[in-house]
Amino acid sequence: MKIAMIGFGQAGGKILDRFLRYDSTRGTGIVGHAVAVNSAKADLMGLDYVPHENRVLIGQSIVKGHGAGTEPELGEKCTQEDIEEIQSAIDKMVSSEIDAFLIIAGLGGGTGSGGSPVLAERLQRLYVEPVYGLGILPARDEGGIYNRNAARSFQDFAETVDNLLAFDNDAFKSGGESLGEGYTEINDEIITRFGALFSAGEVEALGDNVAESVVDASEIINTLGEHGITSVGYASEVVENANDGGGLLDKLRGGNDQNGFASAGDATNRITALVRKATLGKLTLQCEVDSTERALLLVSGPPEALNRKGIDKARKWIENKTECMEVRAGDYPLPDEDRVAAIVVLSGVTEIPRVKEMQRMAIEAEERSEELKSQSEEGLEELIQYGDDEE
Ligand code: GDP
Repeated sequence: MKIAMIGFGQAGGKILDRFLRYDSTRGTGIVGHAVAVNSAKADLMGLDYVPHENRVLIGQSIVKGHGAGTEPELGEKCTQEDIEEIQSAIDKMVSSEIDAFLIIAGLGGGTGSGGSPVLAERLQRLYVEPVYGLGILPARDEGGIYNRNAARSFQDFAETVDNLLAFDNDAFKSGGESLGEGYTEINDEIITRFGALFSAGEVEALGDNVAESVVDASEIINTLGEHGITSVGYASEVVENANDGGGLLDKLRGGNDQNGFASAGDATNRITALVRKATLGKLTLQCEVDSTERALLLVSGPPEALNRKGIDKARKWIENKTECMEVRAGDYPLPDEDRVAAIVVLSGVTEIPRVKEMQRMAIEAEERSEELKSQSEEGLEELIQYGDDEE
């Protein structure tokens, strides 16, 4: 599907940049229009792929190009002040080509966290196309303030978009590396999942490689619906000998066709195993799978590795697991790929422990800041009294 993407704040801008890179290296064309919005000038300058004329610096009279720090209220103000500027950058799109909007933002900071819901509300009023959010949750160890910001923004953002696609940094961070390196890997994970999902809806790109059951943009839009939270599962496996059908090379290797395509049964089993792994493994936001309202399954990979039976079986398995009857499924042949990948979209999920935890952390952060405030007020009073006594 073709999407007008708006990267809001630092994380949003970087992830938008990565979507553009994905398009340029794969020739997918999912980004129909790209706009980066930020109150920090340096972050906007640091982007590589977003066209310069589509980078909008907001709130200059408020934060003077220095960003909103960890204050979503500032991000919100900056956005309100310059909403017309953002709007005119978005209006440069060719609207007939756009299937949907996607606002991308880290919810723990200031600009994206506070500004995204304001923009989402505006776009909802002005356009008929659905408006989605890609909301990045902070890691737990980023602390109370980030988690408090995210808890609030998550709610506001979810209320203003048609669907909030959620990604939890906490679930994907790996210890050890510096923050910058960590984000490079995490951003790869984001692009792998959401890039594959959106490019599946871009059926024109398939050319002669006709899918057995096509998932087009409207199937994705119907799955996402008009309200709710979405979590995405993904699993993939390299298929050796993808282009020789497990033939000569395989025989020379001693006929080990574990990874080849000795039979349709192999392909079926591979698909069902990958779909299980995608659904029960690490999701972009951990949730109870049986709280799903609608689901979508996509299997991509070399045409020889895809088969209808496998996808049908896997779809039935998802129906059982999610306890929902609205499960769409399709394949996406990629002749040059050596991987079979399963993407499972769980839309309208309601049981999300991480969100409850963020809300708890938010309350604790509030209490702590009240405590500190009253301590410092008491301290000040004591100081004044002490000062008085001395006189
Ligand atoms: P803003 O510029 O004020 O909107 O704030 P940021 O975009 O820096 O948002 C802060 C949050 O986004 C942090 O708490 C991180 O969790 C997250 N974040 C920042 N940069 C990245 C990134 O490149 N990738 C990911 N996945 N998360 C990021």
